[in-house]
Amino acid sequence: MTTAPDTAFTITRKTDGISAAERAHVLANPGFGRAFTDHMAVVTYTEGRGWHSPEILPRQPLLLDPAASVLHYAQEIFEGMKAYRAPDGRILLFRPEANARRFRKSAERMAMADLPEDLFLEAVTQLVSIDSDWVPAPDVGTLYIRPFMIATEAALGVKPAAEFKFIVIACAAGDYFSADSGLVSVWVEENSVRASRGGTGTAKCGGNYAASLNAQMEGKAHGCHQVLFLDALERRWLEEMGGMNVMMVFEDGTLLTPPLASGTILHGITRDSLLTLARDRGLTVREEPYAIDQLYADATAGRLKEVFACGTAAVVTPIGAFKSTRGECTIGDGKTAGPITSSLRQTLCDLQFGRTADPHDWVKVVG
Ligand SMILES: *Cc1c(COP(=O)(O)O)cnc(C)c1O
Repeated sequence: MTTAPDTAFTITRKTDGISAAERAHVLANPGFGRAFTDHMAVVTYTEGRGWHSPEILPRQPLLLDPAASVLHYAQEIFEGMKAYRAPDGRILLFRPEANARRFRKSAERMAMADLPEDLFLEAVTQLVSIDSDWVPAPDVGTLYIRPFMIATEAALGVKPAAEFKFIVIACAAGDYFSADSGLVSVWVEENSVRASRGGTGTAKCGGNYAASLNAQMEGKAHGCHQVLFLDALERRWLEEMGGMNVMMVFEDGTLLTPPLASGTILHGITRDSLLTLARDRGLTVREEPYAIDQLYADATAGRLKEVFACGTAAVVTPIGAFKSTRGECTIGDGKTAGPITSSLRQTLCDLQFGRTADPHDWVKVVG
């Protein structure tokens, strides 16, 4: 990649980082979302001047004015992506330009500054390069990368901010769901909704997550790990999990997932990749509305064989049961991942970790 003058990052290295031995200890069992790397990327936007002052800095707290718009009106968007360690030690990104493109779309919806895709990719690449020692061994996990943008202008008037910061942080990550907990159980949320037509459901913004937390608490109170959201109008059609998309596998081998046309479902890159991989292997793929009543009926009749959630953080996560006010229904034997779920997950992971040929040109080498 050629580096334009405005994407030439100033690099300030952390000098008091933890020792290699301490890092190795952390990387042996990183968990999710707490083993942060040494550095962060920061780029500033000022109206009239555009994006400027790209920097790599030692990871540190932000200095924000208490009137910063993000703190009051939630002008915030983010992305989630991973860096993978290949068998030959190279570090790989998976479809990073798709994250850069989606970030621009999210920014547009939230009236935030347009971030050039090159600058997004350069910030991610620079951070992963400087913190490459933090990418775990492939049998342990990945480096989870969190690019985000916040409105920093100190102004309580309600208007799009004129100042933003684009920041990238990263953390070493093991499995999102612990392996010993069995299959995931899902609460079907009938009260609150995640997104409605014309809302912000297709933007990856923090506000969507804040609005989903009470449903998550409700699900937890019913003994479930995750929540399935239904459409806002009829509370009937499956949408998604609030941080992952959802897919069904039927006895004839058809793979079905709710369509993007409603404008209420996040355009998952994992979703898109799995649909492509399923078509590659000759499965029938349908992007069609699917009702929760139908799911209960199909599962009970044995027509619905497998259900899984998919997203960057949790990859492909098999679902063992749904619970709602109408009762519980088990998927498959409720204990083991189905064959199509398992093999799609394997195919995707083999690609992401650089273990197989990459016919779709999805994998990008860092450095
Ligand atoms: C990020 C996200 C997903 C998954 O998208 P991927 O690109 O596959 O990681 C699904 N739903 C929501 C609401 C999300 O924010």
